[in-house]
Amino acid sequence: MKNKIFSFLFCLLFIFLSGCNVWDNGQNLSSDLTTNAQSQFVGSEQSRTESEDINLSSANQAENNQNLLIEILNAGQADCILITLPGNRYILIDGGNNNDGQKLVDYLKSKTISNIDFVIATHPHEDHIGGLDLIISSFDIGKIYMPKIHDSDVPTTKTYEDFLDAVSNRGYKISPAKAGSTLLDEGNLKLEFFAPNSDNYNNLNNYSAVIKLTYGNTRVLFAGDAENVSENEMLKAGFNLKCDILKVGHHGSNSSTTKEFLEAVDPKEAIISCGMGNQYGHPHAETLQKLQAAGINIHRTDQDGTVIITLDGNSYTISKHKDINIDGN
Ligand SMILES: [Zn+2]
Ligand SMILES: [Zn+2]
Repeated sequence: MKNKIFSFLFCLLFIFLSGCNVWDNGQNLSSDLTTNAQSQFVGSEQSRTESEDINLSSANQAENNQNLLIEILNAGQADCILITLPGNRYILIDGGNNNDGQKLVDYLKSKTISNIDFVIATHPHEDHIGGLDLIISSFDIGKIYMPKIHDSDVPTTKTYEDFLDAVSNRGYKISPAKAGSTLLDEGNLKLEFFAPNSDNYNNLNNYSAVIKLTYGNTRVLFAGDAENVSENEMLKAGFNLKCDILKVGHHGSNSSTTKEFLEAVDPKEAIISCGMGNQYGHPHAETLQKLQAAGINIHRTDQDGTVIITLDGNSYTISKHKDINIDGN
């Protein structure tokens, strides 16, 4: 018994220490950026943002087409979103379950991807970071973002440990995702974090990084598993939440998508990532009713397969692909 307690404590210590190692100690830089980014929201002139410091992988954008592609991949009861920026630069938001990892790697390789500019782990639940260890060991990554989790909530799961190990094995650092910072700001393309707004929650879901993508006239909000607590904070913070497309929070659970939040986002399209016949009953009927009552078009990975949105800066089209499936369960 003593041995068990000892190994448990040892594990905790290991996770704590490896957790410390992998964080980008440019915390001060990050808060400077936060200040800069926040000043943009109050309408001051454009500030210097983090994006200027980032060496993105593809130099010759001019040769490529100018469409931006968002693939909400069918990962079963999990989240995985691949964004292809003009110039074939890539952003991955979450990496599905543990069992989805290899299929995701194969899918990205089938597109001849070798570098991913940003990997964003919205929060450390298995259905979001499960496949990311394989991704991090298989591709060159520009920058990895994840919200900093309060000591009292740091997961002790093997999945989280595998993720941190993969990061440290590659010598990468994790940059903290937090509300108010801007990841990219170049011409008509902008990527911002709207959440998390606090550094301590009762529930890991509320730590979720929430990301707003703006491409020309089209705005998309990726809500991770953010629940009503985080939604209220985003409303309070005064972010411009209005978007054309909402990746609905927490797989369509009734824990998320409050009436007030939905009114502020006011999307035309809602995309729900969930597994067919999942044990949680996602998406919940209340969420679907709210979306329907607001006249929002609903797209679901369990029924439609992978949902691909193509943005040209002025308008968007949505297509559904049952043949694209990274669900390894
Ligand atoms: Zn989830
Ligand atoms: Zn979650």
